[in-house]
Amino acid sequence: MKTLKIAIQKSGRLNEKSVELLKNCGLNFENYKSSLISPVSNFPLEILFLRDDDIPEYVQDGIADLGIVGENVIQETEVEVSYLQKLGFGKCSLKIAVPNTLPIKNLSELDGKSIATTYPVILGKFLKQKGIESDIRTISGSVEISPGLGLSDAICDLVSTGGTLKSNGLKPFADVMSSEAVLIGRKGSENEDLIKELIQRVQSVLRAKETKYVVLNVEKAHLPEIIKLLPGVKSPSVVPLAEEGWVAVHTVIPERDFWERISQLKQAGAQGIVVMPIEKIIL
Ligand code: ATP
Ligand code: ZN
Repeated sequence: MKTLKIAIQKSGRLNEKSVELLKNCGLNFENYKSSLISPVSNFPLEILFLRDDDIPEYVQDGIADLGIVGENVIQETEVEVSYLQKLGFGKCSLKIAVPNTLPIKNLSELDGKSIATTYPVILGKFLKQKGIESDIRTISGSVEISPGLGLSDAICDLVSTGGTLKSNGLKPFADVMSSEAVLIGRKGSENEDLIKELIQRVQSVLRAKETKYVVLNVEKAHLPEIIKLLPGVKSPSVVPLAEEGWVAVHTVIPERDFWERISQLKQAGAQGIVVMPIEKIIL
């Protein structure tokens, strides 16, 4: 069997979460900052630590079978890879931002203005689609200081909290794309069975993150109301308690509307609610 290779970011915003995800998949490997390749001891897999910008091409060219990288980088490099799974971390948006003092309201007013960015491909497509002709200035970093230095009228950069924009006297003006980390694969890769196995492990970890395991006690008389509040669960386990007329209900609740659901359960008579994290859900 051929050893699979997965490329992840060596250091930066996606490194820690990528390593954590792979470890949660039960993969055993050393995470030395100095090494470029780390073998996994309990799965036929090697981990390549790379700059994120190189990951899409390495996967496209078959140097790695899989990769974890931001959607923004994939779109900017215009490679042919398969999107296998969104991973729910590294969330950010690519936005056009302008100085607080620039009096513009409509997108069309960017016509003839200069925009500094490290994402000329994505920005170029966006402007073209909107029929706007701006002067795209491609720079390699520190985009946010460009208007202050008089290098451009506006910028197009990744934003998560908006703090960097604010501290540079800029305000978000238009959304170009939203992005998160994704698992990508090479189109038509051999090793399909191993890849499938790995994707299933990743999905079981992600599913577990979206849910909590809940145990609660309730008087038998209130059980129907409690069960009604647990949609999506085929049948919660109901276990009799030592105290006559009481049962314990074991179930899984989505993280999304967790607190709302808990307060409804309490109102319906649930007591002694215990909530536990789930490690994996294997379907
Ligand atoms: P490398 O040294 O690997 O080239 P980098 O400096 O290009 O790293 P990072 O700043 O570590 O990249 O960002 C990696 C990815 O994290 C981005 O491509 C993006 O998908 C995601 N990301 C999430 N939030 C942000 C943010 N606020 N700013 C920039 N990137 C973000
Ligand atoms: Zn990079």
